[in-house]
Amino acid sequence: MPNIFQANLGRGIELIRRNPQILYTVFLGAIIIASFIFISQLFLDIVVETQERFEKHRLSSMHDAFVELAQRDISDTQFLSDTISELAGRNETITSFRVIQDNGTDNIIIASLDQDEINTPDDTSEHIYQTTYIDPDSSFSFEIIRNGDRAFQVVRAIVDTDGDVIGWVSTISSLSQFDQITKENIRTAYIVLFGIVVVIIFLFIRHARIIDYTTLYKRLKEVDTMKDDFVSMASHELRSPLTVIRGYADLLKGVDGLTEKDKENIRRIDLAAQDLDGLVADILDVSRLQQGRLEFRMADVDIAERVKEISESFALTSKQKGLSFVYKPEGTIPHVHADPDRLRQVLVNIIGNAVKYTQKGEVSVKLSASGEQVTVRVSDSGIGMSEEERKNLFGKFYRIQNEETKDIKGTGLGLWITKQIVEKMNGKISVESIKGVGSHFIVTFPKIQG
Ligand code: ADP
Repeated sequence: MPNIFQANLGRGIELIRRNPQILYTVFLGAIIIASFIFISQLFLDIVVETQERFEKHRLSSMHDAFVELAQRDISDTQFLSDTISELAGRNETITSFRVIQDNGTDNIIIASLDQDEINTPDDTSEHIYQTTYIDPDSSFSFEIIRNGDRAFQVVRAIVDTDGDVIGWVSTISSLSQFDQITKENIRTAYIVLFGIVVVIIFLFIRHARIIDYTTLYKRLKEVDTMKDDFVSMASHELRSPLTVIRGYADLLKGVDGLTEKDKENIRRIDLAAQDLDGLVADILDVSRLQQGRLEFRMADVDIAERVKEISESFALTSKQKGLSFVYKPEGTIPHVHADPDRLRQVLVNIIGNAVKYTQKGEVSVKLSASGEQVTVRVSDSGIGMSEEERKNLFGKFYRIQNEETKDIKGTGLGLWITKQIVEKMNGKISVESIKGVGSHFIVTFPKIQG
């Protein structure tokens, strides 16, 4: 058991060490909850205090008015009793309302809400009456406990025309109803507070999940980088044995006495090694592009010269395939700012695709300059693509799968790489195509001014 506890504790400490923001969140959550409790309590205290002050003030005002009457005619006990009944009727919290007269020896109740206590000695503690001597013209309030409930007793002296104290008016107002309402309010406040705490805890748990996702995301990124590094390293390592295979295939071609069958087999080895070499080169490019490691040596390039050169090499392949190949530069073509090798890679890919995906008809390469740009338009009368098929054309590993393409080899990386390279050299690539009619690939580069 202690081992499980220790293991969990260790795991918890490790989690906090890796994600110190957890501590901050817990601290923040605790502060928010404590602040809510503190503010709610403060607010309730203020409300209770204000209501009590208001109650005392209300009773004192009533006293002040009543004492005026008692002072005018203390001997008219019937009138005083009637007024008491009327006032108490309007204030249901009042449980005792007395007029007490000091007859020299005793304090006798001369008018009261409770008719039975008239002419009996008053039981109020002497120190309450003593207090009124401090200021006979003011009411004094005391908090007392009566029949187990809190109550306010308010007293005020009655003075004669000489200013001597001749009696008192005493009222007791029960606070039980008031305390009951306060208790209910406190309960409601705590229920609301509990709800708020639950919401905060819920948000905190959600936040903890976000922390989980952040950790997961970090791990994923690490794994992704590891994968990229591995792909890049593996592709590199594959290239050396491939070069050796192709070298030996070349050597074998020169051996005397080879039969036609041998020659065909060697050609197949060479072709397969070439395909593999192309694939490895593509994968290396993808990994370099993704890691931002593909270098561009930008220079002033005579694009017309490049396009002509590449077109010439493809003209031959096209002829072998029975296609006519047209290269058409329109007017003087300005130079562009590009990496010559990468530009070659782009052109080889789109012209190569045009030849590859065309079985009959023509492939044409047009070069033109307008405004700020130089445009290379590679057109073919090949298999074409529907709108649906074109949707993800520049996606990684995307190949259109249909009857026409099923026997044509490819990796689906060429156009993705082409687009990335074109854009890295500030160019643009777009496509227009009609299924069964042909395609146009349009690549533009900003021309060099001057
Ligand atoms: P792949 O190695 O398959 O040729 P690409 O990325 O160069 O890969 O091209 C992606 C897909 O786009 C191809 O599989 C092909 O279906 C389609 N495609 C590319 N160029 C043409 C074209 N000129 N005519 C018709 N389809 C093309």
